[in-house]
Amino acid sequence: MDDILFFNLKRENERYASGIKEAVSRVVDSGWYIRGRENELFEANFASYCNTDYCIGVGNGLDAIRLILMGFMELGKINPGDEVILPANTFIATALAVTQCGLTPVLADCDIRSYNINPASVRGRITEKTKAIIAVHLYGQIAAMDELRELTDEYNLLLIEDAAQAHGAVYKGRKAGSIGDAAAFSFYPIKNLGSLGDAGAVTTNHTELSKIIRSLSNYGSDEKYIHKYKGFNSRLDELQAAILSVRLKYLDEDNRRRRQIAKFYSEKIRNNAFILPEAKEWDSHVFHQFVIRTGERMKVQQHLAYNNIQTQIHYPRAIHKQQAYSEMKYLRLPVSELLQDEVLSLPLYPSLTDGESRKIVEVLNSEW
Ligand SMILES: *Cc1c(COP(=O)(O)O)cnc(C)c1O
Repeated sequence: MDDILFFNLKRENERYASGIKEAVSRVVDSGWYIRGRENELFEANFASYCNTDYCIGVGNGLDAIRLILMGFMELGKINPGDEVILPANTFIATALAVTQCGLTPVLADCDIRSYNINPASVRGRITEKTKAIIAVHLYGQIAAMDELRELTDEYNLLLIEDAAQAHGAVYKGRKAGSIGDAAAFSFYPIKNLGSLGDAGAVTTNHTELSKIIRSLSNYGSDEKYIHKYKGFNSRLDELQAAILSVRLKYLDEDNRRRRQIAKFYSEKIRNNAFILPEAKEWDSHVFHQFVIRTGERMKVQQHLAYNNIQTQIHYPRAIHKQQAYSEMKYLRLPVSELLQDEVLSLPLYPSLTDGESRKIVEVLNSEW
């Protein structure tokens, strides 16, 4: 049997190859490559998919978060030096976006069962300077948005979704991207909805914010050479937009397949050495990652590698343990610190075959 790759991008995209090639050649022939008809189409489709009034295509997921914060700063709802609360167990982009806007990231600890931001920990970190909470829907599972919304109502804060791992996830009937005041998506190739390069989007129902973000991402301009804001350049190109429109049609089907594999793992992995992910609502989770926990991670990872199965760690260091954020190194966030030492992500993607998932279970259940 061939190696089981942690993610098989080639195989993933082979499934849409004819649609993608057709889309690419349509864009090549159009003679229009940045912000045109393909952007309009994709933005309309994705807004309707997420159930929001607006979608703005941007350059990548980091910029999507940054643009939301900058937009709220232009609106006067956040000011330089204000604090934004985010989980310590996330991809570094969530924190970098805050820092790059001249704001102060404040880390909250995670919940030991969902691995998402813990609302109780958030409450303890709210100060006079707090203006927003960024909820990351980690591994494809939506954060405790109702509890977070209670906090933002009580303290008059903004609630922002980092939905980069949760395209299509549903929370109490609401789609990821439509629950907070604004949401950031990444379409990095390995995300549940991936492009063939860098791409991202913001979704929101906030009319004024949507206009400002569109402008900020295009040099702060709505009218050629007339600049209303000190913006930057973060646009979605027509090629990626056209490719994303092809892939969006299969997103629900792909997420169903991810859930099916996750269910298989959950039912078949029988080994007390592992703590499996808890997914109470199977229909809401889109399993961007299937993450198990074990106190013997190194051994398990080696055992799988010996059997030609690749794994990854999301994430080996919490934000405050990264050198980039050494100013926070003395923070104590016990759950996030436990997770960084114990989490292990198994291969899980729509084109993973039944034979491959069976092999993974077999190896995990065998002696090591
Ligand atoms: C991927 C990711 C991002 C960043 O997206 P890019 O498109 O790579 O900039 C941000 N937040 C989370 C949680 C992510 O997984």
